Amino acid sequence: MPILDQIANIHPEMTAWRHDFHTHPEVGFEEQRTSAIVAEKLASWGYEVHRNVGKTGVVGRLKVGSSGRTIGLRCDMDALPMQEATQLPYRSKTENRMHACGHDGHTASLLGAAQYLAETKNFDGTVNLIFQPAEEGVGGARAMLADGLFERFPCDAVFGYHNTPRLAVGKFSIRPGPMMAGGAFFDIRIEGKGSHGAHPELGIDPVLAACHVATAMQSIVSRNVPAVDGAVISITRIEGGDAYNVIPNEAHLRGTARWFKPEALEIIRTNMKRIATGVATGFGCQAEVDFRVIFAPLVNTDAETAFIADVAAEIAGEANVNRNRDLIMASEDFSFMLEKVPGAYINIGNGDSAPVHNPAYDYNDKLLPYAATLYARLVEKRLAAA
Ligand SMILES: [Zn+2]
Ligand SMILES: [Zn+2]
Repeated sequence: MPILDQIANIHPEMTAWRHDFHTHPEVGFEEQRTSAIVAEKLASWGYEVHRNVGKTGVVGRLKVGSSGRTIGLRCDMDALPMQEATQLPYRSKTENRMHACGHDGHTASLLGAAQYLAETKNFDGTVNLIFQPAEEGVGGARAMLADGLFERFPCDAVFGYHNTPRLAVGKFSIRPGPMMAGGAFFDIRIEGKGSHGAHPELGIDPVLAACHVATAMQSIVSRNVPAVDGAVISITRIEGGDAYNVIPNEAHLRGTARWFKPEALEIIRTNMKRIATGVATGFGCQAEVDFRVIFAPLVNTDAETAFIADVAAEIAGEANVNRNRDLIMASEDFSFMLEKVPGAYINIGNGDSAPVHNPAYDYNDKLLPYAATLYARLVEKRLAAA
């Protein structure tokens, strides 16, 4: 079964919704306009609508028939705090806000599936549509879980997708087990003693200590994490001081770590703390490490991976579904939902676009019917009427 006819018919509507979201991007937990539009559309199609699940999150519930079976379909709604560089007619109208990860398209495609499912009702059970806020590192999935997402809206399984630049439209890729890395952010504060730049002997230089900490931290992945396990530590910001001739009181290192196995996370966390405090102490400074896990590794369950790949193969043909794709070092907070409920996360090609998080990126509207059909068919197959 390729693209569903009724979904092909609403391709222009889904495209218009997507462009509207693109023009009015909202960052994590500020998705007031977006979530209001989502809630209004869901209600108009007969969904039971629950707003403010995880602050700006929305859940739409539709029960058909008598079966106790349930399914969750998830998308994300937030934009990024960056300036758009495209000249698209529907480009962002808000300074320093851009849908550069395609969550505008994720939202529009789940709305398309929502409309189709409400009109056709070709299933027996309960569908929970999860419109998640704040995926971009600010905790939207965890906020929804903290608001009792799966207690209030039980799901036997939960599914989601992300668009993937440089994969052709109509192609899917997934793998069972770990697929995307866990991610942490860290801040290291190194305290010394300020002095005149001409008289370092009168102070304790935290900038020099920070430089040595940064270098020493490169040994964690190369010398402590087993090479086959795959991990990354990137120091992405170094700050200290304001003047050419002043040694400051403190310096800061910030960055991100990525891993797949829980053992690797513990090695990174423990060794980062030991190196930062030990090296800083060696220079007469003191270091404090704040290490925060932002994303769990994303782990697809085997049965649900096979299921969503089978649905993708129905739509696009087996030749267009890569069931054993490479690991991805980027992270995704749908991982926290997959820690609670069986499920799977699949990539769908966005064609020859700029990479996500790039100012020239745009979600490919040709993808909308593939994604909406995937969402719809997951429901029709999983909750097939007897
Ligand atoms: Zn993103
Ligand atoms: Zn994204």
